Amino acid sequence: MLRVYNTYIHIPFCEKKCNYCDFTSFKISEDSSKKYINYLLKEIELYKKKYDLGQIQDSIYFGGGTPSLLSVEDLKKILDKFYYDEKTEITIEVNPKTVDKNKLKAYKELGINRLSIGVQSFNEKFLQLLGRIHNSKEAIKVYEEAREVGFKNISLDLMFSLP
Ligand code: SF4
Repeated sequence: MLRVYNTYIHIPFCEKKCNYCDFTSFKISEDSSKKYINYLLKEIELYKKKYDLGQIQDSIYFGGGTPSLLSVEDLKKILDKFYYDEKTEITIEVNPKTVDKNKLKAYKELGINRLSIGVQSFNEKFLQLLGRIHNSKEAIKVYEEAREVGFKNISLDLMFSLP
């Protein structure tokens, strides 16, 4: 029987709540994210056997919230708990306001090979209405920088039919 091992890791922190947001996310603070990471690392150990986390993962997905608010060191601490190889798809959701070229490069070095960029819209009026913290130029810049540092697998979240 073919088994696949996919893990989703939720990072429930954002810089600010968007106006339409229905996800589990809270305003980030150093204290809360530190506590959360510590509990997360413990929980991964506790559930390692039950959820086959000791197997080589087919995919690992950091979603949120805004996982790109975490430091690269914290992401590494989490990834180090897993087994993966060059075939594992490792994704992080990225808010354009929270990364620069150096951080993208560090993601690549860490083994992250897929980005999901939260663009939502290229219309500034809509972005403001949605309460997003970035503008469209910043989103395009992050996409271009991601290409420059070698990301080949990138998805963009876009919203349509906004009222
Ligand atoms: S960035 Fe995403 S998770 Fe965070 S508040 Fe906005 S919609 Fe919600």
